[in-house]
Amino acid sequence: MGIVVQKFGGTSVANKERIENIANIIKDTYKKGNDIIVVVSAQGDTTDELIDKALEINPNPSKRELDQLLNVGEQISISLVAMALEKIGLPVISLLGWQSGIITNSVYNSARIKKIDITRIENEISKHNIVIIAGFQGINKYDDLTTLGRGGSDTTAVAVAAAINADKCQIFTDVEGVYTADPRKVKNAIKLKEITYDEMLELAILGAQVLNNRSVELAKKFGVKLEVLSSLNPVPGTIVKEDVKMEKMVIRGITKDTNISLISIIGVNNKPGEAFKIFSKLANNNIDVDVIIQSIGRDENKDIVFSVAKDKCKEVLKILKETISDAKIITNDNLAKVSIVGAGMISHPGTASKMFEALYDSNINIQMISTSEINISVLIDLKDADKAVSAIHDSFFGK
Ligand code: ASP
Ligand code: MG
Repeated sequence: MGIVVQKFGGTSVANKERIENIANIIKDTYKKGNDIIVVVSAQGDTTDELIDKALEINPNPSKRELDQLLNVGEQISISLVAMALEKIGLPVISLLGWQSGIITNSVYNSARIKKIDITRIENEISKHNIVIIAGFQGINKYDDLTTLGRGGSDTTAVAVAAAINADKCQIFTDVEGVYTADPRKVKNAIKLKEITYDEMLELAILGAQVLNNRSVELAKKFGVKLEVLSSLNPVPGTIVKEDVKMEKMVIRGITKDTNISLISIIGVNNKPGEAFKIFSKLANNNIDVDVIIQSIGRDENKDIVFSVAKDKCKEVLKILKETISDAKIITNDNLAKVSIVGAGMISHPGTASKMFEALYDSNINIQMISTSEINISVLIDLKDADKAVSAIHDSFFGK
């Protein structure tokens, strides 16, 4: 017994049947004597459809107006879920982000939660109402609506769980947990019982679609115990926490990220401060830069190559043109990043060569390599991505 936060993603609330299904999950948890805060995403592909609608009217809408629109998606879900619970006789109230006291900064489309004023949530909980909160949204100091960036409902759930000091935060999704590779693509993928925050964070950043990376960061920071599980199949999922008993696995998972544009700047002045000039400008515009490589300088110039999310490419090119007008810029959208993640690789030399060997055996060419303590990533041709994931999975986990 205690306070449980349950988050349901878009597929779990996609239609009437799915909503009735999660209403039963919520009911079971409530009948066991728990207080419950539910966080939901927009139904199915609603957010994508809203974005399409916006772009039809104006290919360059302001970020503020886009957030006004995107807030609608989650509003539909919370009210429908609340109605489904009313129907089965449970005390319930739905709240939008601002009604839940979720205060964010003013970076529209990718706002960060600054604080949560939990007065209202606590008040409802004290009356044993089930509180249904709209994920992904908040309000800024100008009383304007914001959104937390794609997949932001996970972040709402973890932030609320931390603020209210919940006993656990369950993230319900359409797969049964965290796997060694995408179970929809790799048939022999293995479900993990447990995974550390750090490993989960790397997997999320590197393209595993099961949890949003900011939510994992927050969970680690506030020690929120997460459980990833299926809303369709009631079996134990994966627990994400600080320490896990190391199983004999060197790596925990293989991910693929196809949301990548590679940008090459050819002929940057070979003098101090040039990289700073470029990357500080990108940082000031909230653009996350991934793999960065700088070539050895020729006499008067050098090349810098880096990757960004595909949807940021246009904005990056605009900024680069303003910052370094004299260099030549080339972009490549036909790439995928395939990564392996695992704390075990620290104590297992040869992990990288095993990965490269699997790629070589499949005749896949590596274009760039980057590593951190617990991951190794390669950039390869987009068309080879699925083959690469399977080959690496077979080599580490057997066929
Ligand atoms: N509905 C939002 C999105 O599709 C937030 C979420 O699903 O977590 O990105
Ligand atoms: Mg969604």
